[in-house]
Amino acid sequence: MSANYFKNYPNPEGFFNEYGGAFIPPQLEAEMKKINDAYFAISKSHKFISELRDIRKHFQGRPTPVYHCHRLSQKYGGQIYLKREDLNHTGAHKLNHCMGEALLAKHLGKKKLIAETGAGQHGVALATAAAFFGLECEIHMGEVDIAKEYPNVLRMKILGAKVVPATHGLKTLKEAVDSAFGAYLEDPINTIYCIGSVVGPHPFPMMVRDFQRIVGIEAKDQFFDMTGELPDNVVACVGGGSNAIGIFSAFLEDDECKLYGVEPGGKSLETIGDHAATMTLGTPGIIHGFKCYTLQDEKGEPAPVHSIASGLDYPGVGPEHSMLKDLKKVTYESISDDECIAAFYELSRMEGIIPALESAHAVAYALKLAKANPKQSILVNLSGRGDKDLDYVVENYGVPE
Ligand SMILES: *Cc1c(COP(=O)(O)O)cnc(C)c1O
Repeated sequence: MSANYFKNYPNPEGFFNEYGGAFIPPQLEAEMKKINDAYFAISKSHKFISELRDIRKHFQGRPTPVYHCHRLSQKYGGQIYLKREDLNHTGAHKLNHCMGEALLAKHLGKKKLIAETGAGQHGVALATAAAFFGLECEIHMGEVDIAKEYPNVLRMKILGAKVVPATHGLKTLKEAVDSAFGAYLEDPINTIYCIGSVVGPHPFPMMVRDFQRIVGIEAKDQFFDMTGELPDNVVACVGGGSNAIGIFSAFLEDDECKLYGVEPGGKSLETIGDHAATMTLGTPGIIHGFKCYTLQDEKGEPAPVHSIASGLDYPGVGPEHSMLKDLKKVTYESISDDECIAAFYELSRMEGIIPALESAHAVAYALKLAKANPKQSILVNLSGRGDKDLDYVVENYGVPE
């Protein structure tokens, strides 16, 4: 990768080679261009950068630590390290880009933040950012998800956000996206759409990546401080791909570091609808306004997907990941629901850290790597904590002796 990677990708039209871009209705084109121009004008200013730095330190609690897993390393071989994004305020990496997006909204004079949410994690992070800045917040969520993820609905309401149910179609994430975009188009002057990952039309995949780069910048420094070396392997789970690109971005130019993105293999890779292994089994296509690897049905509609981790349950993936796969810069692998659960309990019991089910996919893959490469080091991005998943895990899998 060239030293100018971040200047070259995406190109001015938002493409990462053939992926990305903005395939959107004309009314939206002008708005996206405005957000893009403002992003370049504002986010590079000294004032913006120092405000964001302050927020990260005093509100979010950054830098989050890198931790060496003593007992896991002893048991599996290898040297396993975790970047503790579970210790970021609100318990996951998502606040990194939500605070950035909300700060940009404030500089643009916007009054309201609008977004969709699936399981509610992005909604909670954005509602937190809105409260911090004194902005209104409107979160669109499928009616089915509202019932399923009620604690997150309560969190959003406590934080002062308005939760708008999406009542058409399957009443889940896709319908929430439609509903949120509709609301945004009604008043693009006073509102701004805040996307939840490195997906959607340009400039979102670039903006969210840039706000998540802090994870990799910190982790690289911390790891070097602890070991005097770079990690042999870096592992992160991939839903849309924001936590993964955040940590990978610091290592793209270090050819000696192998990068692994871990997708949800779900119940089985054999049947469509049983997994969300977009990179492993998808083909290039257009979804939600951008081009990427996608899982689609015969009609070109997004295919139904499944993962035990609702944050990974998406039939597309960030355009930058799509490019990095083709360039063979990152290897994409999958982990099944059952392997994820085993890793969830293993990390909890061996290290006293309960991971989010999303993050447990990365841990599961790291354990495999450690066994196969006992002399190597592995840095895992632990994207979030597992408190949100306890009821689900215990109800469906029980607690092992
Ligand atoms: C949302 C979420 C993810 C998946 O999103 P990415 O954009 O792929 O990072 C992963 N881990 C946690 C804890 C999440 O909340």
